[in-house]
Amino acid sequence: MRGTDTVEIVLPVTRPDLLYCQQRVRSLTPATLRCIVDLRGELLRYGPRTTRTLIFVQSIQLGAEVYQYFWFGLGKQLLVDPGQRSTALVQLYHKDSEDEVKALVRDLLDKDADDSNPLRVVIATSALAYGVNMKGVSRVIFCGSPFTIADLAQMAGRAGRNLSTVCMALLLYQGHGGRYVDEAMRGFLDDPGCIRQKLRAYFDGGNSVTMYGETTSGRAQAAECCSSCTPSVLTDQNISNDDDSHGNFGSSFGSDSDDDLPVDDDPLPLTSETESEFIHEDFED
Ligand SMILES: [Zn+2]
Repeated sequence: MRGTDTVEIVLPVTRPDLLYCQQRVRSLTPATLRCIVDLRGELLRYGPRTTRTLIFVQSIQLGAEVYQYFWFGLGKQLLVDPGQRSTALVQLYHKDSEDEVKALVRDLLDKDADDSNPLRVVIATSALAYGVNMKGVSRVIFCGSPFTIADLAQMAGRAGRNLSTVCMALLLYQGHGGRYVDEAMRGFLDDPGCIRQKLRAYFDGGNSVTMYGETTSGRAQAAECCSSCTPSVLTDQNISNDDDSHGNFGSSFGSDSDDDLPVDDDPLPLTSETESEFIHEDFED
């Protein structure tokens, strides 16, 4: 509450330090997604210095596929300390994960992403979207659309906290979102307009709402608004699946050239069920 009769509602609707990107893809198979392939290369190359990234998946099954992709690709390099499962660079988090793993992920995410903290990539269902403190997350990738726009805003907002750098939220989805999105989210995906404006329009609803961070100063401002306003950010950031250019996903986040990456040119083919196999019950919360 501020002043006598003004109620300030602060919502994590859009964040000035986040570059919002949205891209329709032909498949959510991990090996076909440039950002996932490049992230694996970044892990191989930089290990525990990789930019901390959250990957939200539509289903536990897809989460397992993404995890497997990293697991096969990284081999022994998955663990910073051989034999110590708790030192894995990548973890998978969903409602059926072992309690021990859930506690570990929550604990490590609540700590700075410094040298003593191995956790760099968390693949998670919406089980991780709410009620977990996170530090040092610079990127959020959605493998498939969240069910609602509120979920999207909440999950995307996990990136960028306590950071002075420009961070990214990347929404990858098939078709019109499939059966796993509600009507409003489907409209959101089909609307080619500015992603921030779409988020504001959904949450504002004619009420006076102060957008999170948008009235505060001193925060990092995204160089570009979103991939709808500036489509070239998809290729600039090397996250587009539509061309053959090469580069690191998130090259502006500290990685340098991508030569000598010990990544297979032909990543392991993984069997992938189509989105029609997803069961909505997997989408938690
Ligand atoms: Zn925009």
